[in-house]
Amino acid sequence: MPSSTLNTVIEDLKGIVGERWVITQRELMESYLRDETPDPVRPKPAENLVLVKPSSTEEVSLILKIANDRRIPVFPVGGRTGLVGGSVPTEPGIILSLERMNRIEVDRDNLMAVAEAGATLGELIKAAEDAGLFFPPHPGDEGAQIGGLIATNAGGARAIKYGVMRNYVRGLEVVLPTSEVLWLGGKTLKNNVGYDLMQLIIGSEGTLCVITKAVIRLFPKSKYMVTLVIPFNKRSDALKSVPAILRSGVMPLAVEYVQINEVLEAARHLNESWPVQRGFAQLIIILDGMSQEEVLGACEEISKICEANNALDIFLAETSEEQSRILRIRSNIYTALKPNMVDILDVTVPPSRLEELMDEVDAIGSKYGVYLPAYGHAGDGNLHVHIMKDAGNEHVAKKIKDEIYEEAIRLGGTITGEHGLGKIRLENLQMVLSEKHLDLLRSIKRVFDPNNILNPRGL
Ligand SMILES: Cc1cc2nc3c(=O)[nH]c(=O)nc-3n(C[C@H](O)[C@H](O)[C@H](O)COP(=O)(O)OP(=O)(O)OC[C@H]3O[C@@H](n4cnc5c(N)ncnc54)[C@H](O)[C@@H]3O)c2cc1C
Repeated sequence: MPSSTLNTVIEDLKGIVGERWVITQRELMESYLRDETPDPVRPKPAENLVLVKPSSTEEVSLILKIANDRRIPVFPVGGRTGLVGGSVPTEPGIILSLERMNRIEVDRDNLMAVAEAGATLGELIKAAEDAGLFFPPHPGDEGAQIGGLIATNAGGARAIKYGVMRNYVRGLEVVLPTSEVLWLGGKTLKNNVGYDLMQLIIGSEGTLCVITKAVIRLFPKSKYMVTLVIPFNKRSDALKSVPAILRSGVMPLAVEYVQINEVLEAARHLNESWPVQRGFAQLIIILDGMSQEEVLGACEEISKICEANNALDIFLAETSEEQSRILRIRSNIYTALKPNMVDILDVTVPPSRLEELMDEVDAIGSKYGVYLPAYGHAGDGNLHVHIMKDAGNEHVAKKIKDEIYEEAIRLGGTITGEHGLGKIRLENLQMVLSEKHLDLLRSIKRVFDPNNILNPRGL
């Protein structure tokens, strides 16, 4: 797109959202040009860009109408916490931030929240809590926005008991690239009218439409919650305990696997202390329930299983401060390792094959003479592997990534369970999807976005 095309619509954009909300100076849009993807693999932003911040669905629709008429690329951005370059504006065009659209209304009778797309995860968690309800998922960074969480179908810790974002969304208001506004679903818990476009849009990473509002299911607040940290000398003992716990009938909110090196580094990074200093492999288990008796009964069951698998200790955090600290340290492993990192993977296998995958990751690390820090959502079979700068160069890092992907696929898994494709995983798509499958995806994109203006990326 010639830069003159973009320049001609700037006055129109100002007319829609007001002069103050159209930003053209590069220095004022720096933080919108990147997400949390590690520097070495993050795509480069384009030069000629304009940042627009609408305040309503009507304004979003008018912006898309202009963009579609003039064939101007539009990049919807949320909290820019993504890890695969999904929101990076890689072509000259419009960066669309919905941060001013951040209202949340809680409907206590239906146990739902109606949230605008620019509200953050932190704000939703708080609004639910203020209404005496609970929003369980916790995908790491509370600065992520509702639109981004839905567009990436985020998961995170606490997805075992109630599922990932997809399981919470009951309704969506979206604006199509051709400017029409659609309401999909609503506050009903059942809806069988035709193809489920809402589910297609969840996880579509800003390529099919702009999400402007969502109806999100909430849950009753548990009366009692504890977090266990359970250390083991051997990884196999820790991972063997996970299916046994899930079979026992106890249903934790989260079962996370971490290794001592990374969790201590994250604690140091935050200037906090980690409660358990021994054991190479540790499980973090979050349990909730309606009474202390119920939750402590579940702890008892888990303790028996872990002790039978050589657990060294069972640490129980009961206060909410201590539990928040444990979750915060766990969520910041990524941030602590980021300065020395080339890439973070989120391969996923059937949960029972996680140990095999980790052994393969170790073998790949040894082959290339590097340490590959790995941890993840053990109950979901979702493993984060970090490729660090000691891999030497980009070429070796890519080989390591491809080999880990091959192993995950061989074990019945997939290349991404959480972060999505964004712009940096497209090159690996052919490893997991057939040409026919890719063809169908391309056709869907054309139906929604005939002029390929929304988050354009090659499939
Ligand atoms: C420390 C840390 C921990 C993390 N832990 C987890 C984790 O445990 N699990 C997990 O799943 N993820 C995790 N993430 C990744 C990230 O937080 C999620 O992918 C999150 O859902 C991204 O939301 P966002 O608002 O930041 O979106 P952005 O990064 O801004 O955008 C992500 C994608 O969504 C699209 N998008 C954004 N808003 C809209 C909209 N309104 N309409 C249409 N498309 C839109 C963008 O175009 C882009 O393709 C973590 C990230 C960090 C930094």
